[in-house]
Amino acid sequence: MKSRFAPSPTGYLHIGGARTALFAWAYAKQQQGHFVLRIEDTDRARSTQTSVDAILDGMNWLGLDYDEGPFYQTERFARYDEVIQQLLATDKAYYCACSKERLDTLRADLMAKGEKAMYDGCCRHKNLSSGVVRFKNPIAGVVTFADAVKGKISIANQEIDDLIIARTDGTPTYNLTVVVDDHDMAITHVIRGDDHINNTPRQINLYTALNWTLPEFAHLPMILGSDGARLSKRHGAVSVMAYRDAGFLPEALLNYLVRLGWSHGDQEIFSLEEIVSLFDLKDINKAPASFNEEKLLWLNQEYIKNATPEYLIQQLDWHLNHQKITTEQGADLASVVALLQQRSKTLVEMVAGLKMFYQDFDAFDKKLADKQFKDTKPLAVLLEKLSVLDTWQADEIKGCIKQVCNDLEIGFGKVGQPFRLALSGNGNAGNIDAVAELIGKPTTLKRLEKAIQY
Ligand code: GLU
Repeated sequence: MKSRFAPSPTGYLHIGGARTALFAWAYAKQQQGHFVLRIEDTDRARSTQTSVDAILDGMNWLGLDYDEGPFYQTERFARYDEVIQQLLATDKAYYCACSKERLDTLRADLMAKGEKAMYDGCCRHKNLSSGVVRFKNPIAGVVTFADAVKGKISIANQEIDDLIIARTDGTPTYNLTVVVDDHDMAITHVIRGDDHINNTPRQINLYTALNWTLPEFAHLPMILGSDGARLSKRHGAVSVMAYRDAGFLPEALLNYLVRLGWSHGDQEIFSLEEIVSLFDLKDINKAPASFNEEKLLWLNQEYIKNATPEYLIQQLDWHLNHQKITTEQGADLASVVALLQQRSKTLVEMVAGLKMFYQDFDAFDKKLADKQFKDTKPLAVLLEKLSVLDTWQADEIKGCIKQVCNDLEIGFGKVGQPFRLALSGNGNAGNIDAVAELIGKPTTLKRLEKAIQY
């Protein structure tokens, strides 16, 4: 068994492409088959190296490894030409010299009559020796195939016109290259977006003309944005790497993507191992899937909560470098991460929370400070007690806060809140005693003094 992902490098790896790649990858893994990456770059005007790199980066970040490839279609022109020549030689294709004007008029006339715009086969029997090359689609009969997702699909050959398989400059077109490649690369399962479902009968006719064995087809349901329209750039970040940048874990995104059109009972959270062991084409939904940013965020939070601090540190590396935060000095990073992972929805949030352990802040949040530092007595008493504390540990620190509350006969919040603001600058901090322990005694005292002087 062999599946493939065959993106055209005309943009970044987007959510829809990544979902297709994941399904093809998961099925190959589940079947203990092979997964192939093929870059469909024959459209030279639209394909770019930047986009190829973006696809490879995205696959790599998601951990979608391929057993073969990446293959590049631009390196296979000789092979496509060979097949085109073979089709011409066996009278299964012909040259067509119809002018653009003729084709435009033909289309306009048909459409005016309310008919489908189709090529009329004008050059079919002219025996021309130049022009575009068209495939001789069978005139009669019906093309039928059993799509693994959509079920049985039939289309009459009368509905399909003679497809252009080579342009005037000899370069092959998508429907030809995809068939040649899937055959040559021994692909048994073509798993792709349902925007290709209309191409499938044409491709099947090519397979038949070439006497090649047909693969299985599985067309994945469309992904819709929150407004019910096909997911696109308009719906915000659709590039996979934009999700990395926004602080998502690759496994959270994979988990989210696998549920876009596939389900296994009511289960929402799937480890990669589970995806691989449970994935089956028969569980893919026919109906379009809706992209839901909230749910992705919820999943990400779940994954952050349940990850080991060591793993999160690996994933934070890019973010810390990106934001130029060094964590070599100061609090133990694993402990800081352990403290923050219960309250961070994204790694970006975690980095924001982690800054105060490694960097001094310029100023206190004015609105909060004006209120919470109005009466500095609690902080002053706290500072006194903390400065003489021998064991700098959360429990002892908490003990000091409690003593302040007793001495001044005030509630915990009256000390805890300004203390939190004193240490964080913005009030965003979890368990204040644990935070103070990790920040360390000298920095805690220094920040308290600064708060008292506010
Ligand atoms: N290159 C095509 C695309 O990006 C996919 C071809 C296929 O999967 O058959 O849409």
